[in-house]
Amino acid sequence: MDTLDRLAIHTMTTKPWDLPTACAKYAAAGVPGVGVWRQWLDGRPLSESRTILDDHGLKAVSVVRGGFFPYLDETGRREAHEDNVRSLDEAAAIGAPQVVLVCGARPELSLTENRKQITDGIAYLIDHASSVGVKLAIEPLHPMYADCRSAINTISQCNDMIDQLGEDWVGIAADVYHIWWDPQLAQEIKRAGKRIIGFHVCDWVTPTNDFLNDRGLMGEGCIDNRGIRQLVESTGFEGPIEVEIFSDRHWVSDQVDYLEKIITAYREHV
Ligand code: ZN
Repeated sequence: MDTLDRLAIHTMTTKPWDLPTACAKYAAAGVPGVGVWRQWLDGRPLSESRTILDDHGLKAVSVVRGGFFPYLDETGRREAHEDNVRSLDEAAAIGAPQVVLVCGARPELSLTENRKQITDGIAYLIDHASSVGVKLAIEPLHPMYADCRSAINTISQCNDMIDQLGEDWVGIAADVYHIWWDPQLAQEIKRAGKRIIGFHVCDWVTPTNDFLNDRGLMGEGCIDNRGIRQLVESTGFEGPIEVEIFSDRHWVSDQVDYLEKIITAYREHV
């Protein structure tokens, strides 16, 4: 049986739990990793969040999220950059090796302009990433979000950007929810190679009733989580496997039972 050594859970997955509760429950269940959403850091000093993780023997595997690069004016550009700098500082403070980038998009701009601003925005962050020792993990988002959440929608686009940006401080977070449908997936994951630095799992349910908050637990839908894991691991990836599920349906259930289901689904379907 697969051990839980590589399992990580995003705090968003068990949204009703605050950071101290999530850490206590994850640790008790033997889950070693946490994908920390920035909202879970609010309201206390970063050092205190670090202590909460450390006291439970947990490792922050990612801070989620930075990005949202496209802007309409110079103030917007500067604010996005400053917020991204803060996200890198937060990751460094809690010991997370990467910030996941949801790159953003503005419906007022063309896709070409959105993508140019994203590439430029990431390029401008690399110095800070390097100075704090935290990597930037570009997460391509499903194209249904290309209007306002991300104009970066495939691993192929990430590879093209990283060809330009260099791969020392920029990598790719491969989230099955966003990439499972891609006919170029196998070849682009192979092309990415060691650029794959994050792997997120969940499932796509049919029908999907809400395009944001109706993700499934692994095994509830049509995504070949195990097959995509094999593709990702064939690049040499040995990092954490992060469960990231936004689900109104699961958030209203008993979260302790749900955590057990997550662990079972991880063992059986990932
Ligand atoms: Zn993700």
